[in-house]
Amino acid sequence: THVFETLSDRLTTVFSSLRSKGKLSDADIDATAREIRIALLEADVALPVVRDFITQIKERARGAEVSQALNPAQQVVKIVNDELINILGGETRRVRYAKSPPTVIMLAGLQGSGKTTLAGKLSRWFKSEGHAPLLVAADLQRPNAVQQLQVLGERAATPVYAPEPGNGVGDPIKVARDSIEHARHAQHDVVIIDTAGRLGIDTEMMQQAADIRDAVGPDEILFVVDAMIGQDAVTTAQAFVDGVGFDGVVLTKLDGDARGGAALSVRHITGRPIMFASTGEKLEDFDVFHPDRMAGRILD
Ligand code: GDP
Repeated sequence: THVFETLSDRLTTVFSSLRSKGKLSDADIDATAREIRIALLEADVALPVVRDFITQIKERARGAEVSQALNPAQQVVKIVNDELINILGGETRRVRYAKSPPTVIMLAGLQGSGKTTLAGKLSRWFKSEGHAPLLVAADLQRPNAVQQLQVLGERAATPVYAPEPGNGVGDPIKVARDSIEHARHAQHDVVIIDTAGRLGIDTEMMQQAADIRDAVGPDEILFVVDAMIGQDAVTTAQAFVDGVGFDGVVLTKLDGDARGGAALSVRHITGRPIMFASTGEKLEDFDVFHPDRMAGRILD
């Protein structure tokens, strides 16, 4: 299963009802657009995104040339596919490495979004790309977060920079700042900073994230969001745009069984690209996010 299954199923139904049609009339296009609209809304895609999506679909379906290669149903599938890719950001967005190392990656998001797990996954991925990452435990809020990161670091064979007991405990900003210095000395060219999240958006948490940001000047701030939290994904994303700002999005828990349409909206609503996706609890359940592959999977 995956979080876009509802959407997949609904769209398949819409397309199958078109299969017997010859040329599509304007009425056919309107009816199809209406069904796609319902499919998107039922999958929890945010309203403004649905609106733009449907407008594009209608315009393109009306303007579609009579084609020898594609029947009307195939044409609609192609248009929906193109629009999904568009909504998901078009091109794959690669990591931007700093001109002079280390490249600093800061993770932000709500508690439970999968940040700490992601830190481990990212470190494994950077290693596979030929880098020497350092994990930094700057989530000093959640009990066990430091230890959890150390376990993950061990599994990923990545060193972890954590506060020494009695030295900097409780000061995540100092930990983050010192970790950069440590990375320089120890020849780490990528630094991945795990930060604290709360269960809900809260100004103190935002301020702490903003302070860490100001202390380390990250090359990439990644907003981590659980695809299963529904419409809250959109409101949370907006709160993080305003409170901390971010360069890219990581969708987690795409392996879940809740409706994940809201996660599809995050790119369109915030204008920030989805860069990575997490699909399970294991370190290897993770990959670079490719909009075209995801669209293909939804329409499979
Ligand atoms: P944090 O509070 O943001 O640091 O979140 P954690 O990394 O501790 O993750 C919270 C829970 O979600 C843990 O039980 C993780 O194992 C789980 N988790 C993280 N990512 C995924 C994922 O992609 N899929 C699934 N199914 N579970 C995940």
